[in-house]
Amino acid sequence: MLKLLKEIVSNVFKKPVTIEYPKVKPAPTERLRGRQYPDLRKCIGCSLCFIDCPSNAIKMEKLPRQLPHNKRGIFPVIDYGKCLFCYQCVFVCPVKAYVVTTDYELAGSELENSERLSLETMPEVPRQEEQGSQGR
Ligand code: SF4
Ligand code: SF4
Repeated sequence: MLKLLKEIVSNVFKKPVTIEYPKVKPAPTERLRGRQYPDLRKCIGCSLCFIDCPSNAIKMEKLPRQLPHNKRGIFPVIDYGKCLFCYQCVFVCPVKAYVVTTDYELAGSELENSERLSLETMPEVPRQEEQGSQGR
């Protein structure tokens, strides 16, 4: 009984083992595989990441406008709800188009897929007449 009382008293003064997440956020470890998304300045629309994804988390979508380096006019969109974070897509990409992050806070309805992040990397493409005048 005395032993138990001692244990209780000592635990009252000990720091808690758990943290008050989300008020306190644990620092991600160096090797943590967080949210990844393709950079459209590099992606050539080859679909290799889509073909190789083991959990069918990737679908290929049409680009909102044509990019000279992406002849097929498509780009991958990742459904983070299905993603295993195995990073096979990152490794298989022939042009290293994937941006990798340690962002692990994926719960919530705001960003369920990678579309917005990728579209934010969409490069400005000069209009035809501008391209012509640059070449002169
Ligand atoms: S990390 Fe793995 S599961 Fe997730 S999209 Fe890439 S290949 Fe698919
Ligand atoms: S493998 Fe790379 S280049 Fe090919 S579609 Fe995926 S992100 Fe784009």
